[in-house]
Amino acid sequence: MPVLLFAENAQGTFRKPVFEAATYGYDLAKTLGTHLIAVSVGPVKEDELEKLGNYGVSEVYKIEDARLNSFVNTAFAAAVIKTAQDTGSDIIVMSQTYHGRAVAPRVAARLDATPYSGVISLADAANGFDVRRFSYSGKGVEELKSARSKIVITVKTNGYKVEENPVTISIRSGNYSPSNDDIDLVARELVKASEGVSLTEAEVVVSAGRGMKGPENWGMIEELAGLLGAATACSKPTADMGWRPHHEHVGQTGIQIAPNLYIAIGISGAIQHLAGVSSSKNIVVINKDSEAPFFKIADYGVIGDLFEVVPRLIEEIKKIKIAS
Ligand code: FAD
Repeated sequence: MPVLLFAENAQGTFRKPVFEAATYGYDLAKTLGTHLIAVSVGPVKEDELEKLGNYGVSEVYKIEDARLNSFVNTAFAAAVIKTAQDTGSDIIVMSQTYHGRAVAPRVAARLDATPYSGVISLADAANGFDVRRFSYSGKGVEELKSARSKIVITVKTNGYKVEENPVTISIRSGNYSPSNDDIDLVARELVKASEGVSLTEAEVVVSAGRGMKGPENWGMIEELAGLLGAATACSKPTADMGWRPHHEHVGQTGIQIAPNLYIAIGISGAIQHLAGVSSSKNIVVINKDSEAPFFKIADYGVIGDLFEVVPRLIEEIKKIKIAS
């Protein structure tokens, strides 16, 4: 029985979290002596579907219908369930994204499967199907085991290294069209909140907090982010005070991210903030208070006034860019 990947697309293209989940699914299929297949729901180009073959997907079931042009969690879940039933897949893998988080529990409930969310390790199928994931807002790691044979896994974004595993892929038509019951909510319009780099997918994030003193000072944060090709983020109070848009708020009650580089400027490092960013690979902290808790988990720290440090950092990066 193949492992099934739900390959979600964003405006017709596959993004990094899908390739992470595909790599995970491929590695898992290998340990189980089977292969990886995928289901794609909603409009997507043929050459995008072919890309999945680079990440070990040998068959992809394409499900398109005008009523699936925007994301409807019930219908997308029903499409994944139908494909799992048609292909006899008991193990379903997807990304721990908004769509994955909305689809996975529905699929697990309908298939009577164990839902594993936000996993960071390859499931050990020979040993009670145990996996690891972060718990206690990222302060601990828990190990989970399931006695069931049906499992639905969401892979934590930036939690599993993307690797290419090229195979020949065949593109097939999936056998699902939504019933009226499946379409219980329809998005009439999609307005992009920001034109910049997407926060959940960014490799580099420049984030700032209350140390900025006011929204009028964010120009340097945006300039630094622009130079680094980074997304911008912020602490909760700065979003609550209206200094920054809410979609930038990271932490326990905001978005949880794990970029390669997280630069925290004028943020104290409260536990609720760290809950959303502590999985970042490299953390740089700029803070004038040497006792700020953020320094405890920083890989690099600059103790200094951000209004001096950040402009100098920008200057140095510009020099390097001009020289290269
Ligand atoms: P502050 O704590 O005020 O820190 C500002 C920092 O800037 C200080 O460390 C200071 O030394 C430094 N600074 C000041 N001036 C300068 C300067 N000129 N140069 C350099 N450094 C300077 N917070 C989140 O961020 N995300 C969440 O998801 C979240 N969820 C929460 C959920 C709950 C239930 C609760 C109770 C709280 C939550 N919080 C969350 C709030 C959290 O507890 C902190 O209050 C918040 O993170 C602090 O934001 P801050 O670091 O920007 O501000």
